[in-house]
Amino acid sequence: MEWEVVIGLEVHVQLQTQSKIFSGAATAYGAEPNTQACAVDLGLPGVLPVLNADAVRMAVKFGLAVGAEIAPRCVFARKHYFYPDLPKGYQISQYELPIVANGTLDIEVDGQTKTIGITRAHLEEDAGKSIHEGFGDGSGIDLNRAGTPLVEIVSEPDIRSAAEAVAYLKKLHSLVRYLEICDGNMQEGSFRCDANVSIRPKGSDTFGTRTETKNLNSFRFVEKAINHEIERQIDVIESGGEVVQETRLFNTQTGETRAMRSKEEANDYRYFPDPDLLPVVTTESDIIGIRSTMPELPDAKRDRFVEQYALSEYDAGVLTSSRELADYYEQVVEYTGTVNAKLAANWVMGDLAASLNAEGLDIADSKVDAKALAGLVMRIADDTISGKIAKDVFVAMWAGEGDADAIIEAKGLKQITDPDALGKILDEVIASNPAQLEQYRGGKDKLFGYFVGQAMKATKGKANPAEVNRLLKEKLNA
Ligand code: ADP
Ligand code: MG
Repeated sequence: MEWEVVIGLEVHVQLQTQSKIFSGAATAYGAEPNTQACAVDLGLPGVLPVLNADAVRMAVKFGLAVGAEIAPRCVFARKHYFYPDLPKGYQISQYELPIVANGTLDIEVDGQTKTIGITRAHLEEDAGKSIHEGFGDGSGIDLNRAGTPLVEIVSEPDIRSAAEAVAYLKKLHSLVRYLEICDGNMQEGSFRCDANVSIRPKGSDTFGTRTETKNLNSFRFVEKAINHEIERQIDVIESGGEVVQETRLFNTQTGETRAMRSKEEANDYRYFPDPDLLPVVTTESDIIGIRSTMPELPDAKRDRFVEQYALSEYDAGVLTSSRELADYYEQVVEYTGTVNAKLAANWVMGDLAASLNAEGLDIADSKVDAKALAGLVMRIADDTISGKIAKDVFVAMWAGEGDADAIIEAKGLKQITDPDALGKILDEVIASNPAQLEQYRGGKDKLFGYFVGQAMKATKGKANPAEVNRLLKEKLNA
């Protein structure tokens, strides 16, 4: 039987507000446990939540970026469950009336564009964290995270493979960082995903029973967890069993998922509107105000790069994958001019990206800044050095040996293009290889490459390749 995979993702995005969603406590990551939780976050009797308007603005910003409807009036609800890291015994979330509904996100997979529906995005508070290390048989609770604002972004079950799921997540991740509503730090849990997965016979138009794998905090884990879950479900069905609707956990060590709780054991959340919070009203003029703060978004930027710099869709997509990278690239081009935009793109995506990757650095921490890279690109463009020599210059720049001009000067790397100087060198090369010359003139054309090689060797790679070719042809065929 051929199976079709159906996936819907729920993504929790921590909003980068200064303070929590319902209290004035700080949200910064990594503080001493329980130093950033106030009476509201602890759920002490008599406290009242006060909504953080920044969190609302950020959720609206997101909604506008995915072309969604912004609810003119949305409502906070209490979602009840018991867990040690949830002091009030309920989480403040949104249920029937979320702030954002009916958006879309375009993804590219294998050169094809596909639109994924976004069912809803709602505001809610994060829970605290259990700490298992250092407490013997017990556990500690850190409530610093309690009350951190989240938007939970729920997709339609439109995704058909792990690769599409990863493309969707990367796009979403890039988008929330462009919007400056989330720092995107997945290791710290600022951006995490629950994956709902089911399978059905190809051609079927009803959905199979789904499982939900919780709290995946890297793109690689998402891909592995989904692929494992697909194989497991196919095995279950093909061996005559049935998939059980349940929540599962991904084991990052083994790459497998295991059951956590089934639907029967699932909580009845007893949702009801939170009587301590007023409905949130968003007016047309609020929306106009928020829209005016929106940056150029990734898709628009990519299209502009294709247009303005004559780049391929692919190059433009890579260069606009983060706002920082796009800004860096545009700074380089500001110095090199648009005529060299493609050459600049090759250097940003090639040697620069490779060096950043090798050292695990962000573009912001690059050891070669945009102006310096532009300086190197210009020396290639004006034929001072060849692209090959430029690679060595780049390595020296990365090592902090100075700018391109200083390194070219200090190491004597200037390309030899002067026909007289180059001609003398070529005469010597030809004179010292009489046997090869005779063979070449006797019809062994392949030896041309040998002479080019000897010329490059004699000049330590500094000869201008085009000029070597031209002059050699002249001299050998004379
Ligand atoms: P819940 O609140 O119980 O998690 P939702 O209806 O909100 O349920 O759905 C959660 C996610 O599951 C959504 O992203 C949705 O697209 C996805 N989903 C729903 N049905 C299926 C299915 N049969 N297979 C895969 N994903 C599904
Ligand atoms: Mg769910």
